[in-house]
Amino acid sequence: MPQRFKGAGVSPGAGYGPAKRLVRDVPRPDPDARHGGDAAAEAERAAAAMEETARALGELGERAGGDAAEVLNAQALMARDPALAEDVRKRVGEGASAARAVSEAMAVYREMLAGAGEYLAARVADLDDVRDRIVARLMGAPMPGVPDSDVPFVLVAEDLAPADTAALDPRRVVAFVTREGGPTSHTAILARSLGLPAVVACPGADTVAEGTMLLVDGATGEVAADPEPGVVETVTAAAQARAAAAAGAGGPGRTADGHEVPLLANIGGPKDLPAALEHGAEGVGLYRTEFLFLDRADAPGHAEQVAAYRAVLEAFPGGRVVVRTLDAGADKPLEFLPPGGRDEPNPALGERGLRMMRRLPETLDAQLAALAEAERDTDAHLQVMAPMVTDAADAEWFAAAAAKAGVQHAGVMIEVPAAALRARHIAEHVDFFSIGTNDLTQYTCAADRETGGLGRFQDPWQPAVLDLVAASAASAADAGRTCGVCGEAAADPLLACVLTGLGVTSLSMGPSALPLVRAALARAELAQCRAAAEAARAARGPEEARTAAAERLPGLAELGL
Ligand code: PEP
Ligand code: MG
Repeated sequence: MPQRFKGAGVSPGAGYGPAKRLVRDVPRPDPDARHGGDAAAEAERAAAAMEETARALGELGERAGGDAAEVLNAQALMARDPALAEDVRKRVGEGASAARAVSEAMAVYREMLAGAGEYLAARVADLDDVRDRIVARLMGAPMPGVPDSDVPFVLVAEDLAPADTAALDPRRVVAFVTREGGPTSHTAILARSLGLPAVVACPGADTVAEGTMLLVDGATGEVAADPEPGVVETVTAAAQARAAAAAGAGGPGRTADGHEVPLLANIGGPKDLPAALEHGAEGVGLYRTEFLFLDRADAPGHAEQVAAYRAVLEAFPGGRVVVRTLDAGADKPLEFLPPGGRDEPNPALGERGLRMMRRLPETLDAQLAALAEAERDTDAHLQVMAPMVTDAADAEWFAAAAAKAGVQHAGVMIEVPAAALRARHIAEHVDFFSIGTNDLTQYTCAADRETGGLGRFQDPWQPAVLDLVAASAASAADAGRTCGVCGEAAADPLLACVLTGLGVTSLSMGPSALPLVRAALARAELAQCRAAAEAARAARGPEEARTAAAERLPGLAELGL
């Protein structure tokens, strides 16, 4: 009997395969477990499990590359730590089983890390993962994390941690479905960057028996268990039609009647440039520079920053490159930035983004100086914007800092409802706006973007969010400023048309979303986008807004949207 589940489709495409669950629980060794008497053989078994775990982690790192490789290589080093090996050998010598010895030795190590300052304490989860892997190996239990399989499968999980996702092999995993997570969660952002069909906030799908055949539609958010004959073909054909339309759409972003909406890429650094160029980005609409600063004890130096910024500017001669200054705090903590001297019970409402830079202006000044230098001798048009700007005083302060450093075009992200409502005052100080719909939705609906189970409120289709987008775009137009969107909302082809109708002047998104958004815009006239925007704002909730918009954009039906 087929079963259907509905979640939020966050990365388009169809995937069909047997369900496989993310393994979280590893059996704990009995606290009294003893080996059978041959201590040397047991110690040998423990050493082999540790070495095999280190090797497997290293291989995973090699496959994943980039930042993930660094995390996984550091984990491999933990498994190979000589002091740990010695402690395990000693405990086995005293009679403990190999699994118990590893578990106990690592508990000591864990305590040391947890008490050794914030930076090392953050590695405790990585250490626990290493322990679980070694113990699972010794106890013959399934490896924690993404399961291994020779057959392509649909990964089903409560939620995915960044380390789980590092191990995702797109050749093995055909789609993923999570119970938790919202459209703006890091899980969703990652799915799009991998180009994997994904549905999040989908309760029920995680309860199907392992091996049940699942059909996942990452555009509509529908998940079918053991679908009827023919359904797989229909859903797959629709996804293929969308992919073909996307592949066929080239050139700059514009509506069917020629209204231009530049399509830009969201990137985390030069490593994302090939994908941006491949998918026809007309420039960069959001360079999230905090990736340069992550996982390090000090800020990158001037030369390193200049090189990372210049590489991006040089990739778009004559094009626009919008760089966001450091957005530290809340969901993006940085090790080297000293805490503000107080605990924050609600970090998302605390000192983050520009607020932190106002306390640490030398960090911002150094970044702005590097940006100004990077622009010299390139043909790109550099625009620099600040995150988490709340009011006109913030905008004025940032614009002055940018001007002092020699940055010619300063702008702000509109992510706080107060900024959207008073955009007219902010526009007096800066050249451009870029709406961060991920945070704007979080703050408008008072729903933490990292908390699962709040999907209805984490939806940029909420009419209240659309009202704030409209207010920002109108204030920008009145002041002769541009107003883009660089939140995940821009990656939703239907919503991209609505945003255009609301007066948004450019759309920036993860590179893999660009072709479908380009194809959608090409099938809508500006008047239809405006009618869809008006109807969506008149709706009483996100579902009604979506339906009302789709009715007014008939050209998108052939994309199955
Ligand atoms: C946003 O908030 O919409 C945004 C683009 O910034 P980030 O997702 O990096 O917070
Ligand atoms: Mg943001």
